[in-house]
Amino acid sequence: MSTPPAAPPAPRHRAVAAAVARGLVSPGAPVAGLLDIAGIRRSAAELRAGFEDFAEPGTPVLHAFAVKAASLVPVLRLLAREGLGCEVASPGELALARAAGVPPSRTVLDSPAKTPAELREALALGIAVNADSFGELARLDALTGSAPSASPLGLRVNPQLGGGSIGAMSTATDSSKFGVPLRDEGARDQVVRAFLDRPWLTRLHVHVGSQGMALELMADGVRVLYELAEEINEKAGRTQVTTLDIGGGLPVNFASDEVSPTYHAYARLLHATVPGLFDGRYGLVTEFGRSLLAKHGVVLARVEYTKSAGGRRIAVTHAGAQVATRTVFAPDSWPVRVAAYDAQGRPKAGEPVVQDVAGPCCFAGDLVARDRALPLLEPGDHVALLDTGAYYFSTHFAYNSLPRPGVYGYAPGPDGAPRWATVRAPQEMDELVAESGGAHADALTRLGDPAAPER
Ligand SMILES: *Cc1c(COP(=O)(O)O)cnc(C)c1O
Repeated sequence: MSTPPAAPPAPRHRAVAAAVARGLVSPGAPVAGLLDIAGIRRSAAELRAGFEDFAEPGTPVLHAFAVKAASLVPVLRLLAREGLGCEVASPGELALARAAGVPPSRTVLDSPAKTPAELREALALGIAVNADSFGELARLDALTGSAPSASPLGLRVNPQLGGGSIGAMSTATDSSKFGVPLRDEGARDQVVRAFLDRPWLTRLHVHVGSQGMALELMADGVRVLYELAEEINEKAGRTQVTTLDIGGGLPVNFASDEVSPTYHAYARLLHATVPGLFDGRYGLVTEFGRSLLAKHGVVLARVEYTKSAGGRRIAVTHAGAQVATRTVFAPDSWPVRVAAYDAQGRPKAGEPVVQDVAGPCCFAGDLVARDRALPLLEPGDHVALLDTGAYYFSTHFAYNSLPRPGVYGYAPGPDGAPRWATVRAPQEMDELVAESGGAHADALTRLGDPAAPER
């Protein structure tokens, strides 16, 4: 199977023009997130097909979408309709998955900080839980002893194989905070013993990192997981470990429209590195996030002003740290492509001019691109931050009390023109005030007033 061709920019251009014409982005709503629904469906289908091409027929495979990559209920329901489940890492993410109608049997709970209440809820619902530490296993001992549960239970391990190009995203370093570090003195034996002592532990989990990881390293992590499962099952004298959860982390190409690497390429590498993985003896769980959504979303923002400072041209737009947090704070690790559109949302023509693209936040570093050659931007134009369908507008940062932008999905109608649906309405000012303690406006002044009754 060959690499899918780069998606043509035409549908994106059409969507931007239509979003401006509809007023989804306007002077009163100067930034929004746009999601290409056909693209999301295509990626989900490629994920399923990539694994089906290598797994023995009948191998149970659950692709659990990592909710943190796009924590939007309609997106979770769309993916569920495409055959995916959810990987959740907090009570909030679990609530979103449930609101989307994702059944407990297709939900997996990972998190390094699960409280006893969260664990109890997960077991009561019957959702799968991957413990992150021996301390968490001890809590599960107490809970599983008191009530039977349908939850498949597993343990996350850290193969300690090293990091990728982005330190903050590398979860398989020697000292990562995630999972049981397998290469620490005595740890592997302790893991094996933990399984033999707990017949209800039936899964192993690894997630080597997100973005910036070499595919070979990811596949090596899965090989370590597989070998550990084989060792446990041999010592147990039965198939105790039935399911391998191989995590997510397929990197995304932020440099062009090409989808690379593909799910098919990763599955092929897994098949070559860990042949036994797909032979049907193990059920598989995956937890991909970014690779399913990134290329199918853009942040679209108006240019409010342009200026020149110290010889530097700057376009001040409404897309900054509030929607592109990582790009602003770690620009070398998270560069994004910026496309220029005119006031009507048509691709902007003109000689490229080196300029900075700034956001609305009140700190000097709020730039989404520096020294970028683009047609000279003017007030009223638009910029699109490309490949931002995962971890950008869905993971809003509340700096400067900037409201959460609206998110809209589009799909071509019968005439080819995009049709639209609201995924998330823009945040209203009264919601923003309420979220900032609006209901407690006099709380502190009353506290200092001895005459006021306590409330
Ligand atoms: C973040 C995360 C994922 C998803 O990572 P992507 O890079 O978005 O694919 C999967 N599993 C775990 C445990 C995670 O923390």
